[in-house]
Amino acid sequence: MPINRIQFQPGLSLASFFQQYDTRAQCQQALFEMRWPNGFVCPQCVKSQHSRHERGTRLLLQCCHCRRQTSLTVGTVFDASKLPLTTWFLAIHLLTQSKTGMSALQLMRDLGVSYRSAWLIKHKLMQVMFAQERERKLETLVQIDDVFVGGERQGGGRGRVAPNKVLVVAAVQTTSKGKALLTRLDVVPNWQKPTIARWATKALAAGTHVVSDGLATFAAVKDAGFTHEPVIVSSTGKSAGQHPRFLAVNTTLGNLKTWMASTFKGFKLSHYTRRYLAEFQYRFNRRFDLQAILTGLLADAIRCTPWREVSLRTQMPADVGA
Ligand SMILES: [Zn+2]
Repeated sequence: MPINRIQFQPGLSLASFFQQYDTRAQCQQALFEMRWPNGFVCPQCVKSQHSRHERGTRLLLQCCHCRRQTSLTVGTVFDASKLPLTTWFLAIHLLTQSKTGMSALQLMRDLGVSYRSAWLIKHKLMQVMFAQERERKLETLVQIDDVFVGGERQGGGRGRVAPNKVLVVAAVQTTSKGKALLTRLDVVPNWQKPTIARWATKALAAGTHVVSDGLATFAAVKDAGFTHEPVIVSSTGKSAGQHPRFLAVNTTLGNLKTWMASTFKGFKLSHYTRRYLAEFQYRFNRRFDLQAILTGLLADAIRCTPWREVSLRTQMPADVGA
């Protein structure tokens, strides 16, 4: 049987990870080189000569010219955290290398930190992933389907929403032969046509051809200027899941459901669904290069405005199409 080249690609092994990021000095140096690839520049006087000072777990860079101190982590997702960088780096490795992700509870055990710390690390990193993925546009050929997260659709047709269920538009960009390339998973407030049109404007690049099943509301992508091909499933005698025009989106949804069931057994998803979907989406869209995903997330974590705990717990990223 031929092996799946994506599944069997060599990731970053734990041994290689510890060779590169085992000590605080190694992690600090990696972060330093990412923040200032051409060497440190003082944000006040733009001079480069500086000295280094450790304060607790923080590294401060002091300008030799104007004496201004700049924290290595200021303005990054690692800012204001009492946890050492080695813990953050290991968390990034664990979250990015596992196909099934990792719950905050498992992170707590593997990192040897409190549950609250593990939860904060996970949600801060998921927020980074959300920020990176929210502007992604799928293009050319895209399969879309509707999915209810937090439970299966049960009777009453698609117009009715059970309590605690979250509506998600699942979209998968494919090759012309139907091979899945990229995905977008967006929470939407309802299945009304204006909502789907707004979703399409945000999620799809100009010229995209959309394939969906016969759900009437998906025809609204035409209102946003896209071409639409409804495939009436019943006429083929196959269920939607088996139809070749929907294979990529249904395989992705199958993986999503397996991931939710195995990683978050008994977990109430709905409150933080957008972040969890972003985590799945982020890893899926980088699955072709597992070796680069760790440094990629580090680079994204440096660019992302840090969220405080109160914001993480109370502010949710907005629905697309709202
Ligand atoms: Zn200076």
